[in-house]
Amino acid sequence: MNKNDIISLTITSMTAQGSGVGKTADGMAVFVPFSAIGDILEVRILKVKKTYAYGKIEKIITPSKSRIETDCPAFGKCGGCVYRHISYNSEKEIKRQRVVDAVERVGGLKGVKINEVVANERLYRYRNKAQLPCRNTENGVEFGFYASHSHRIIPCGDCLLQPESFNTVMNITKNFMDKTAQTAYDERTGKGKLRHLYIRYAEMTGELMVCFVVNGNGLKREDELINELKKNLPELKSVIFNSNKEKTNVITGLKNRTAYGSDYITDILCGKKFKLSPLSFYQVNRAQAEKLYTIAKNCADLKGGEVLLDLYCGTGTIGLTMAESCRELIGVEIIEDAVKDAEGNAKINGINNARFICSDADSAAKKLKNEGVMPDVIIVDPPRKGLESGVIDTIAEMSPEKVVYISCAPETLARDLKLFNEKNYSVKEITPVDLFSRTAHVENVCLITKV
Ligand code: SAH
Repeated sequence: MNKNDIISLTITSMTAQGSGVGKTADGMAVFVPFSAIGDILEVRILKVKKTYAYGKIEKIITPSKSRIETDCPAFGKCGGCVYRHISYNSEKEIKRQRVVDAVERVGGLKGVKINEVVANERLYRYRNKAQLPCRNTENGVEFGFYASHSHRIIPCGDCLLQPESFNTVMNITKNFMDKTAQTAYDERTGKGKLRHLYIRYAEMTGELMVCFVVNGNGLKREDELINELKKNLPELKSVIFNSNKEKTNVITGLKNRTAYGSDYITDILCGKKFKLSPLSFYQVNRAQAEKLYTIAKNCADLKGGEVLLDLYCGTGTIGLTMAESCRELIGVEIIEDAVKDAEGNAKINGINNARFICSDADSAAKKLKNEGVMPDVIIVDPPRKGLESGVIDTIAEMSPEKVVYISCAPETLARDLKLFNEKNYSVKEITPVDLFSRTAHVENVCLITKV
């Protein structure tokens, strides 16, 4: 097989990243983005490796039954959605299969009960957050999303995953930047002012936060920009300038200045209030997060007398929604601002059996163990890279009845479940929850119990 060859290919499975895969007669796997299981395609080969190749669709000979019309002009270009061309039922099946494959192939575990994917009822405009990079064009400043695995900005137009008010913010900001002759930051030269437009929306209260990430401390004539936003967006509650002068891929800097309104917005999740400040983590799909936390709560099945340890707790959301059902809640989180938010969140909800520790999860768990803290239930919700093996050892030494593992990456979850298994903890069931419809991501709640 050579580059630019045209081959005929049937798509038979999907990768974790949402690319279709077909096998040639001689057993070579060919990855074809934006194809669908069941497609019979003419594929142009783009790159050949020893046992696999990458290709792109040249022509659809027979379309898969799961195909639907796509409804976004940026689909296939921006790095966001990978499943706008197939039905939602197919998307859910693919996501469940991804979890099954991870558990069996990565985790080497057999017979784990993997439930149906908990569906997202709102496939459009479910996100409550956007971080939009910008660039300078002949027509002035333009916002967009990065293309997959790159920093090339693809204009996003009206992204169907985000609220319409975000378009208003984008348009006002664009016009202001052009009118005042200020430019977008250019990563190559380090010049230009505006790096990212970062917008957050608290769905239940309607509050909107606009955060400008700037190369500097602010923008010229920023009052005019704020006035224009206020005039058009009555729900605007907070305008923040975040300084990021570093040559880095990290979006936000550490310094925030509130230029209008409040330092935070407030949302309601599982009946509890949560303060959101620009740097703290909050699930991007509120309605589905509520289902996720409810499933986690059912897994924990607290009776009232327990000590609950919430590792990787962010602003405390998961633990705080369960605090009333246990004796004591201890949250651990590495970001100081998030810990402050978690403490504030406990307070505004009148919860006084919770304390939060700012620390790396592993060291905090070890320290708690040495102090003789023996949690009955431990919740872990680590970032994509999963748990460090030390954390699993310490958890096993604390010997809780249950561990509830919330994961946004089935492959690292599966790797960690294998380690739990070796420590005499058995995996009861996994429930995938669709928080990120149309993208390849899938969240999971897993109940692990002491044997
Ligand atoms: N449970 C929270 C947050 C989950 S996101 C919620 O559902 O809202 C994962 C969190 O882990 C982030 O807040 C991140 O800052 C934190 N984190 C990342 N690495 C960590 C570590 N080594 N120790 C403790 N917390 C960590």
